[in-house]
Parts: sequence; structure tokens; C-alpha cells
Amino acid sequence: PETITVQELANRMAERGTDVIKALMRMGVMATINQPIDADTAELVVSEFGHNMRRVAESDVEFSIRREADAPEATQPRPPVVTIMGHVDHGKTSLLDALRKTDVAAREAGGITQHIGAYQVNLPSGQKITFLDTPGHEAFTSMRARGANVTDLVVLVVAADDGIMAQTVEAITHAKAAKVPIIVAVNKIDKPGANPQRVHQELLQHELVVEDLGGDVLCVNVSAKEGTNLDKLEEAILLQAEILDLKANADRQAEGAIVEAKVERGRGSVATVLIQRGTLKVGDVFVAGAEWGRVRALLDDKGNQIEEAGPSAPVEVLGLNGTPQAGDEFIVVDNENQARDIAEYRQAKLRQQTAATSGRGTLEQMFTQL
Ligand code: GDP
Ligand code: MG
Repeated sequence: PETITVQELANRMAERGTDVIKALMRMGVMATINQPIDADTAELVVSEFGHNMRRVAESDVEFSIRREADAPEATQPRPPVVTIMGHVDHGKTSLLDALRKTDVAAREAGGITQHIGAYQVNLPSGQKITFLDTPGHEAFTSMRARGANVTDLVVLVVAADDGIMAQTVEAITHAKAAKVPIIVAVNKIDKPGANPQRVHQELLQHELVVEDLGGDVLCVNVSAKEGTNLDKLEEAILLQAEILDLKANADRQAEGAIVEAKVERGRGSVATVLIQRGTLKVGDVFVAGAEWGRVRALLDDKGNQIEEAGPSAPVEVLGLNGTPQAGDEFIVVDNENQARDIAEYRQAKLRQQTAATSGRGTLEQMFTQL
């Protein structure tokens, strides 16, 4: 059966070993720090501390150190986080660029050059929308596979002169599997051969019934090239967000997900983090996947240095001791010792997994060579 030592359990929860021993004692279990306990007992301890635990596989107990949900009264509305998906050449990149330019601050600054894995649009109304700048279903699914559900809604781009294609269908499948609502943007309506009505009809075959046909799927005809109806698309996104009632507690240690991370010359490892709840501040100690660090500097999506970042904000983080992976959990902990312990535990686990897989690889190779 699956077991975990008290020490490991404490590390994974970012709690002190002695506190875990005390919690076990209250449950009538006498355990030492190096003692293995079974998954069911571990689960009780985890909930006792107000954490969540997920079992990835029968043979593996994977602990997420994300804390439990906030009380509703402690939460405030937060901006929606949007991913744009669709078939190749239907205009995902063009639409992301066009939407970026609708930012009121961007207009003042005469355009944005800074490029991180996500950006936020400030609308004239004062409302905000966060766009993940990683178009394509691959980024979406690889992040989901790593346990990061960062997207609140998907904007499905369909070219009005081309209609539903293979990757459009894939995008619909992925969004549905993730239970993420879809808003349709019928793009390229400026083109002579554009036929938005045909796209609406085709969507029916994939159980997406747009409003014009009596359904509840929001659908906007746009032209990324000419900037047509981008405000209507943003309105639709905000309307869908209102229906979803998106909220988060800003007044707590930050939690989020790595959107992308890389090593940059002269800057070390830098990561784009999407804050999901709490507020991240300069000086905070964090764990990011199997890496950890202390926030040396925070930059917003326009490259401005900032002191803190709240829910739904994409932010560039400097101060990592290594390079995490897209989709990794990002979480602020109390001190460097905890951060180091958790990172070391995860790295050891990754090494085990790599060793196991490479062993298997050799066996397979042996068989194929026979
Ligand atoms: P992606 O592969 O989905 O990211 O598509 P792109 O944004 O790279 O666009 C593919 C091609 O379609 C490019 O040549 C764009 O200039 C063109 N395109 C994108 N949006 C529009 C539009 O609204 N109207 C027209 N006429 N062309 C567009
Ligand atoms: Mg593109």
C-alpha cells in the first residue's frame, strides 16, 4: 500500500514535522518523524491542516500544497483568464495582437513591446481581462496535464472563409473535457468569401449552439486585421465571466501556476506566473514545481517593475534558483527551509521517475533489437 513518512508529509504541506506528529497524536496515532503512514491517515492529516491532497495514481501519492478554498466572504471578483484556440492560420496570433492593442495603457504608451507568456488588457470601463499568450491546444493540454487549470474560458477562433477544421474540432474537444466554456470568435469577416452563418451552422454539429440559432454560446464576428468588433468580443468575455462568478481572496500568500520559464542571460531563471489567489510580493519565498526561490523583482506584462501582483495578474518573477516547467504549481511558503525541503523532495522524486523510465527504455530497446 501507499505510504509516506511523517517528514515527507510535513514537507509536502509546508508544515513543521512536530506539528504533524501532534496532529497524529490527536488522532490517536503515535508516530515518529521518519515513520511511514498510510495514504488514508495522511489524507486525514492533510485535511486537518486545511490542505488538499490528490492521489495521482494508485502507486503514487502526490501532494499538492495548495491550501483549501477561501470562505466566500473573503473573496472579491477577479478578472477572467482567457486562452485563444483554433485551427492554424485562422488568426489566433493576429487576434491576440489586436486585443493587446485595445489596452488603454498600451494606447497611451504607443504600443507594447514587452513579451511575456500572458498579458492583461485594461478596458476603458476599468475592467480587466487576462489573456494567455500561448495559443494552440498543446499549451492548454500540457498545462492541464500538469494539474494547472488556469483558463476560465476559451475563445475559439474560426476563420469565416474556411469554417470548422480539424484543429477547431480538437480545440472544442479539449475545452469540453476541461469543462471550460467556449466563446466563438468568427474571424476574417473582412474577407470577400467570408460566411459567418455557415460557421454557425457547422458549430451545431459539435453541440455548440450560438445565440443567433437559439443557443447560449456567445459568438462574435470579428476581424483581427481591421480591428472590427473587438470591443464586442471583450464584452462577451466579461459577460461570460460574470456568469462564472469568478472570485479570489487577494489577502493571503500567493498561489498560481507557471505559464512559461526560461534562463535569460544576465537575469538567471525567469518565469511568467499567473497569480490565481493571494498577492505575490517582492521578498516572498516560494516553491515552483521542483524549484524554489525568493522574489528578487516582479515585472508586469509591460515590463514595469512592480511591488506586488494580485489574482489573475500575469507577472514575471526573478529570483528562481532553477527553471520550473509550464504548468507547475507556484506557491508562497513561510521560509527558505520549507521551500528548500519541498524542492529537494520533488527533485528526488523526479530523479526516481527518470531512473525508472530510462530503465524501462533500455528493456524496450533490447526487445526491439531482438
Ligand atoms: P494563427 O496561425 O491562428 O496564429 O493565425 P495568424 O494570426 O498567424 O493569421 C494567419 C493569416 O491570416 C495571416 O496572414 C494573417 O495576416 C491573416 N489574418 C488573421 N486575421 C485576419 C483577419 O481578420 N482578416 C484577414 N483578411 N486576414 C487575417
Ligand atoms: Mg499563431
